[in-house]
Amino acid sequence: MRATGATGMLAEGTIAAIATPPGRGGIGVVRVSGERVPALLDALAGRSLPPRTAVRVVFRGSGGEVVDDGLLLHFPAPHSYTGEHVAELHGHGGPAVLRLLLGRCLELGARLAEPGEFTLRAFLNGKLDLAQAEGVADLIDASTATAARAAARSLSGEFSRAIRAEVDALIELRTLTEATLDFPEEDIDFLREADAAGRLARIGDELAAIAERARQGALLRQGLSIVLVGQPNVGKSSLLNRLAGDEVAIVTPIAGTTRDTVRSQVELAGVPLSIVDTAGLRPTDDPIETLGIERTWAAVRDADLALVLVDARETGGGLGAADAGILAGLPSRLPRLIVHNKIDLAGIPARVAPGAHPGDDGAAVRCHVWLCARSGEGVELLRREMLATVGLAENLEDSFLARERHLAALREAAQHLAAAAALLAARNAPLELFAEELREAQLALSRITGAFTADDLLGEIFSRFCIGK
Ligand code: GDP
Repeated sequence: MRATGATGMLAEGTIAAIATPPGRGGIGVVRVSGERVPALLDALAGRSLPPRTAVRVVFRGSGGEVVDDGLLLHFPAPHSYTGEHVAELHGHGGPAVLRLLLGRCLELGARLAEPGEFTLRAFLNGKLDLAQAEGVADLIDASTATAARAAARSLSGEFSRAIRAEVDALIELRTLTEATLDFPEEDIDFLREADAAGRLARIGDELAAIAERARQGALLRQGLSIVLVGQPNVGKSSLLNRLAGDEVAIVTPIAGTTRDTVRSQVELAGVPLSIVDTAGLRPTDDPIETLGIERTWAAVRDADLALVLVDARETGGGLGAADAGILAGLPSRLPRLIVHNKIDLAGIPARVAPGAHPGDDGAAVRCHVWLCARSGEGVELLRREMLATVGLAENLEDSFLARERHLAALREAAQHLAAAAALLAARNAPLELFAEELREAQLALSRITGAFTADDLLGEIFSRFCIGK
């Protein structure tokens, strides 16, 4: 078994890695996969192990010295994650002890695993298709419960099954077409009788529904980047807390990654939001602060949406000079929502008014929302407008945690289906062209599940996994 060329990984030999995160924990796991696993288990346990059963073992180094006291498991091939013999060593969760356990596995003939190499083997051995393998990485990376559930749906094969159903329908239609091509006396009327146009339209509709679920999932996976603009005391932190609500308030940064001081992470209806704080965007001579300001502007330029907070008591939603400067620096395509806060003090009701008002800074203003961050009145209106502005559905429980490459493949398939439908509708179009469009549509869909996949794409996907997965 071998993954060749550009994957940069030879799926050969017995691989080992610490599968639990770095740092200290109750337990830590070293995972090993490959043909040398049975011999390695013999050496570690001094006997053969019952399959898939945790057995308590004193782990010893090469000189017989005790390294740890833990559990050992054997998942015999092919009933394992990778499809090969897999061993798990459960030791105490300290970095030094896990390195000793890993070192022992290397002495016993394993080599260090590359990132994602366990899952690559699972893919090559037919345990998972490509969309499912990507679901594994996305589940690990998911930062909200909704994103995790969407990734779990892809991992369980729901996305792949939906795609495969359309591939099967396309194969049926191609078979009909090829039969027509092989027997020229059966002309295009034969296809009409078989309701080729109806079948094509059904496949197109179903693919459009899948694409929408995938598009939602892709938004969910990336999360949204939001710029918050407003003068001090206008209610920015109060609004953030309101938006975050009872759900995970502040998502803690992952240990070991550089802390991003420009952004704070919150969750809105299951969508990870990264809020860019413009508080630091003030004129300064300090070189360090200038660097920070450049980073903030870079984050602002990549944002999906700007929330501009003003005090509802100020006539015309007046903006200070500093805010006007920030707004002038925003990309003109960036949609803005103007939020008039503190309606309780202004004595006016919560409401939404679509579109730009006289005095707004441009056409990118989507709407105005009046609310009270303190009581929460009107915050639901804002939440809805935010989701609608970026094209997110209210309910994301149905989405597939898709990636850009999936969306591109779905778009490509849709284009070929549209071309096929046009050919079918044209009275005297050559049937060969129709057949070719169907073939191209099928190829595009098959790339999602990895039935036809270039090695360099495999390398790109699996090298982004963490080591030990
Ligand atoms: P920031 O400086 O923009 O982050 O503003 P804060 O969120 O810290 O709010 C400034 C003050 O305004 C605080 O005392 C809040 O309690 C108050 N505040 C925020 N929103 C409202 C509101 O809708 N109504 C009222 N009455 N007070 C509010």
